[in-house]
Amino acid sequence: MIPLSELAQGQQFPPGALYIVATPIGNVADITVRALHVLGLVDRVAAEDTRNTSQLLSRYGISKPTLAVHEHNERSAAEHVIAHLRNGERIACVSDAGTPGISDPGARLVDAVREAGFPVIPLPGASALTTALSAAGAWVHTFSFIGFLATKPKQRATQLLSLLHHSQALVIYEAPHRIVETVQALLDAFGGDRQLLIARELTKLHESIHRCTLAEGPTWLAGDANRQRGEFVLVVEGAPQEAPQEDAHDALLTTLLEELSVSSAAKLAATLTGASRNALYTRALALTKGREEEKGREEE
Ligand code: SAM
Repeated sequence: MIPLSELAQGQQFPPGALYIVATPIGNVADITVRALHVLGLVDRVAAEDTRNTSQLLSRYGISKPTLAVHEHNERSAAEHVIAHLRNGERIACVSDAGTPGISDPGARLVDAVREAGFPVIPLPGASALTTALSAAGAWVHTFSFIGFLATKPKQRATQLLSLLHHSQALVIYEAPHRIVETVQALLDAFGGDRQLLIARELTKLHESIHRCTLAEGPTWLAGDANRQRGEFVLVVEGAPQEAPQEDAHDALLTTLLEELSVSSAAKLAATLTGASRNALYTRALALTKGREEEKGREEE
């Protein structure tokens, strides 16, 4: 069997390219063989926090020149990165934890580097998003990644109101000092019935994954001060979808069809109910056909 390190080395790692490298979200062992190979190979590491990254790299026996690329300097730092790429360097981009660009710096750097004509090569790995979802269960069919909600209560309430009818599960990131008010805000906005997953300190010593309803969320958090500590991913069930009722407007359509053509009946029903004219037309057509078939049978 070929050792994994050899498999990683056997790949192409072109010079003059930016490598987006996911790092662990807690457990330092959660890094890929390929990520370690690339971090060892690159000329420089663009890091959200150069001290944190140097410390992390030292855990893997790697030491590299770093340059800071954070929220406040991403555009100007991109110019430096591009200058190094022009010199044929390989540069890795890492954030403090998880996947760069996911609620972390990295996306603007990616834009700038691609615009400058250099390749951007992603190396998959840990993210709190996928880690939480992998343990959520089948009630999460589809999801939307929200990241951090607005921090001001009014803005947050408006944001949540705009998501009230969103059918997909919502994945939200939250810090310990806001977890209680955020869960309460979710309850206020969506009511108590929806499922909630509180994934805390994933991959770390005090990891906990708790599933309850939104109504139960605040009580569970209040049950033990430790439950409010650490980093959180919240997954909230999407809005319940009403099954489309094919026959919802049958009574109205039947009455209208006594006096009007299929298309006029559909048009008027659409005006009266706000439902789709096309859907009402199809239904009116089906009702007319059904009625004619019935008539035919009666005449036989
Ligand atoms: N780029 C990262 C990723 O790929 O997940 C996210 C960085 S964002 C600045 C940090 C937030 O991610 C935390 O506030 C928390 O919501 C979530 N997070 C990061 N690590 C986590 C962990 N071990 N357990 C739970 N949530 C975590």
